[in-house]
Amino acid sequence: MASKATSNASRKCPCGSGQLYPACCGRYHTGAAAAPTPEAQLRARFSAYSMQLIDYLVATTHPENPEHTGDPLTYAKSVQRTARITEFLGLKVLGAPDADQPAAAAATASEAQATSGLDSSSSSRSDEDAYLKFTVRWRERGLGGPEGLATEVSHFKRVNGAWLYYAAVQ
Ligand SMILES: [Zn+2]
Repeated sequence: MASKATSNASRKCPCGSGQLYPACCGRYHTGAAAAPTPEAQLRARFSAYSMQLIDYLVATTHPENPEHTGDPLTYAKSVQRTARITEFLGLKVLGAPDADQPAAAAATASEAQATSGLDSSSSSRSDEDAYLKFTVRWRERGLGGPEGLATEVSHFKRVNGAWLYYAAVQ
């Protein structure tokens, strides 16, 4: 375990942020901090899938997630199966699904709205719900098969200050 921790400390974060793992998703995986934004949680969950951190994935899934069976152990096994058979190659966060633009531009627009004090009509910017569109590059682990590219929208809900993955929207 010690050697694994050492190699994690000097590796780039699997989420593709370009930061070192401990300064990025590693903080959330260890519980040192809670992911402060839906994007941070999306990135941390992608990294957790890539590193097969099943406990983190179960802990950050909303208990009312449609695929959550209500039995954490059964749900953990299904998450583990996905993580085990899939090699997660890359994540690209595209931003709010109604904004067909890169995350950086979406963030700028959202900041501009906050500055102007105008209420956004989009539910994705409310306090308790958030929607993020992203693409994931993946392939089946160990088979060397072709890469797949999946585009998804995730729905996050904030519960007691923590952003939890609620469901896939599409
Ligand atoms: Zn990261």
